[in-house]
Amino acid sequence: MIKNLSIYGSLPREVVGAIRAVVGTEQSALHEPEFAGNEWTYLKECLDSGFVSSVGQFVDQFENDLATYTGANYAIAVVNGTSALHVALKLAGVTSGDEVIIPALTFVATGNAVTYLGAKPHFVDSESKTLGIDPEKLRSHLKSSTKIEDGICFNIQTKRIIRAIVPMHTFGHPSELSKLSEIAEDYNLVLVEDSAESMGSFYHGKHTGTIGKLGILSFNGNKSITTGGGGAILTNDPTLAARAKSLTTTSKIPHKWEFKHEEIAYNYRMPNINAALGCAQLEMITSKIEAQRLLFEKYASAFDTVSGLRLLKEPSGSTSNYWLQTLLLDNPSRSMRDAILEATNNAGFTTRPSWELLSNLPQFKDSPSSDLTQSNELTNRIINIPSSSKLAKVRNVN
Ligand SMILES: *Cc1c(COP(=O)(O)O)cnc(C)c1O
Repeated sequence: MIKNLSIYGSLPREVVGAIRAVVGTEQSALHEPEFAGNEWTYLKECLDSGFVSSVGQFVDQFENDLATYTGANYAIAVVNGTSALHVALKLAGVTSGDEVIIPALTFVATGNAVTYLGAKPHFVDSESKTLGIDPEKLRSHLKSSTKIEDGICFNIQTKRIIRAIVPMHTFGHPSELSKLSEIAEDYNLVLVEDSAESMGSFYHGKHTGTIGKLGILSFNGNKSITTGGGGAILTNDPTLAARAKSLTTTSKIPHKWEFKHEEIAYNYRMPNINAALGCAQLEMITSKIEAQRLLFEKYASAFDTVSGLRLLKEPSGSTSNYWLQTLLLDNPSRSMRDAILEATNNAGFTTRPSWELLSNLPQFKDSPSSDLTQSNELTNRIINIPSSSKLAKVRNVN
């Protein structure tokens, strides 16, 4: 453990001061849910009706509301973001023995979902502008390490098919989707967006998760809106949407009393009680994201005079939900990062580093990977600070 923070100069103390100037002196979590609307009413309706589980009107309503808000033609509600990604990748045609391009800098669920299908993640590097996949590096990596035969992209070294690419919109900031879409097209890769963190984020006016062939959302308790636990698959393709619904609901053939199931499928349906919560949350999303964006502005002025780091700003052309507010150290330094984490957590502010790169986890040690220099540096630069929407309402203390 770090014994003496003073050897790190004034920066850890300045970070504590800047956070305190915005959020006040109370302890603050990383990202808390906010229930300020019809949550109680809809949950009570659910309990009063007895429909809390796999039957009920709120699932249909939530799916319709999600489609309307995101602009996707179809939204399929499921039990969590991980199961959404599992099924989306299956629908993208990922099968056993394939590889799927994913950033090394992501939450473990992205890698897990690939593995559920018997495929291997193929890790690529991220850039500091978006914290998402670096399109230029990806293109040169694919150029030198793959070949296309009969319209199928092969990894020259492993001889496996590379079937899909999964950009992840880190902490809510949209990745460089137009460049990544072009690369996906050139290499015949299916684009599946892991938009688990970017509900309410738009790329050139389009909601994240609606640009790829498929996209997924998460409504876990710490995400921008929550259903307790939950997720959704987004697509504009009617055939994929029908398959998604079937695969997530045990592939049961609709019938008044008969039990017939078409194929092996999953019980990933979102329960009605979770969807009820989701309907209420979605009604409030615009003001919640406005608050998260306002919190960014407040932090930006508080950190304006702090040198040695900067607050991550939404990429140009994108409107970010600012799900997590991120400090980026100018120079990668694990020890400075840790000194700041230590000082801020000691002061009662929940701050966190980025994830360990998936390529460093033992369960992914056999996975192919491009050069990951920038991702490695980013893990020593990123510090997430308290980001709950309610913090935007705290009166500034300075
Ligand atoms: C939260 C998250 C998921 C998974 O969502 P769950 O609903 O927790 O299963 C997937 N990918 C990323 C990047 C996430 O942050």
